[in-house]
Amino acid sequence: MTTTNPFDLSGKVAVVTGANTGIGRGIAVALAQAGADIALVARSDASDTAALIEQTGRHVTIISADLATIEPCVRIVEHTIRDLGGLDILVNNAGIIRRNDALTFTEEDWDAVLDTNLKVAFFLAQAAARHMVDHGGGAIINIASMLTFQGGVRVASYTASKSGIGGLTKLLANEWAAKGINVNAIAPGYIATNNTAALQADSDRNRQILERIPAGRWGEPGDLGGAAVFLASGAARYVQGHILAVDGGWLAR
Ligand code: NAP
Repeated sequence: MTTTNPFDLSGKVAVVTGANTGIGRGIAVALAQAGADIALVARSDASDTAALIEQTGRHVTIISADLATIEPCVRIVEHTIRDLGGLDILVNNAGIIRRNDALTFTEEDWDAVLDTNLKVAFFLAQAAARHMVDHGGGAIINIASMLTFQGGVRVASYTASKSGIGGLTKLLANEWAAKGINVNAIAPGYIATNNTAALQADSDRNRQILERIPAGRWGEPGDLGGAAVFLASGAARYVQGHILAVDGGWLAR
């Protein structure tokens, strides 16, 4: 039995992708509040998120990278270790969605979503894990979705990618748990971000969504913070391959 706080991330370094906005920003701030130094990976200006991290008193570095391909993966790991002295936590958050009927869905909309949401997530996890196995282990958190469990409509490539993230999370947990690397996922429900702006703006869909959420409201990026801190921390040391829904009760309905 330890008397130290098992949720404390002091001395840890976390990489968060897609950290300039939305869920990535919410998770990055939560990890910093728990004590971690943060490498923000973004293709857009992430200075607002960096300012929030600095307010917590933690160190922050911004890594500019386009995660449409796996090209930046090794560079992200090297940059993090050079600037912050290690890499203990990876949050694979960057993701995109394309909406179209399955009958007319294009190859471009298929490949773009699968590449960023699934392929890059895997190869960044691989690059991070190659460091972690030789440096005391770590934690990898993939951002899944309700569409890891459900089918959805008009989002064929997104559903395929997020269902794939669920399977990949379990596979990586199986391979890496004994190497001291915890791999888990967070499945957000309906969170108010750029990703869901079209749904929020559609009054019919917005009403249907709200009627089905037991909590009675859209989630906010900050609602994911507690789950991320838990899965990143020693408190989750015996939690492997789990997909933790943070959904206001959506899946319970
Ligand atoms: P968001 O506000 O659109 O954020 C997505 C993030 O990913 C942004 O930082 C975006 O950068 C980044 N990104 C996308 N493509 C990129 C690329 N090629 N290179 C680098 N960064 C890239 O949406 P969000 O809701 O916070 O989404 C975050 C994650 O949560 C995604 O994986 C999403 O699928 C998942 N999710 C969201 C919800 C929800 O209800 N919002 C529900 C379930 C799962 P830019 O700002 O430059 O585009």
